[in-house]
Amino acid sequence: METDRRLSELYPGSARDLCELRFDTPFQLLVATVLSAQTTDERVNMVTPALFARYPEPADLAEAQTEELEGLIHSTGFFRAKARNLIGLGAALRDRYDSEVPKDLDELVTIPGVGRKTGNVIRSVAFDLPGLAVDTHVTRLTRLLGLTGSDDPVKIESEVCTLLRPAAWGGFGLRLILHGRRVCVARRPSCGECLLNDFCPSAFRAAPVARAATPSGPAGSRRRGPAKAGSDGPGGAGRRARLSGPEPG
Ligand code: SF4
Repeated sequence: METDRRLSELYPGSARDLCELRFDTPFQLLVATVLSAQTTDERVNMVTPALFARYPEPADLAEAQTEELEGLIHSTGFFRAKARNLIGLGAALRDRYDSEVPKDLDELVTIPGVGRKTGNVIRSVAFDLPGLAVDTHVTRLTRLLGLTGSDDPVKIESEVCTLLRPAAWGGFGLRLILHGRRVCVARRPSCGECLLNDFCPSAFRAAPVARAATPSGPAGSRRRGPAKAGSDGPGGAGRRARLSGPEPG
């Protein structure tokens, strides 16, 4: 797919390379991904070293004292629900999976706090298995790019996966997340700086931004852009994708 080919030039590497959460084991990634709901990966990375040291195995987490666990994850927000899910997650892994993280999505989504998005993150980032994690950025960008007409994450996952070989699913999702944060920002997409602007059906239609030269050719090849460029661009961005967090303004 041309979109993935171009985004791979801008954001190279595997799903694991592009993931911003810090972890050593699938269990740690699972815990970190559950914690990343409604906060930034940077915030999660601040609390996980102490959390992983205190609860190194699923059984340790299953037997955690709720108040102590809540205190360790408080700064990530929604700490009561997250603590409840993490204790349930530890118990599920200990009791049903011999303290290992399962690889099948159907099994992952039975674990407390784990939905398809988190399950696909675990598959692609921890296990290098096919898995397209559909978050708000992936939903928005796949619609803007005309890859789907749906706003249902399950349908989007299904439709977009048919366009790519399975090995590319995970990396593509993480590249879309990066592009959604750095260039195709929700309220002011920087179409003028976007390397997809010569074929994106939404280019220069979503917000008043300027056109600039792109790797695909000179400026203004198909649509005309207005006068002022958006501020978000790949030059000022990191090359690893946050998995969740608040939508940028
Ligand atoms: S051309 Fe504009 S609308 Fe299309 S993906 Fe790029 S930034 Fe988003």
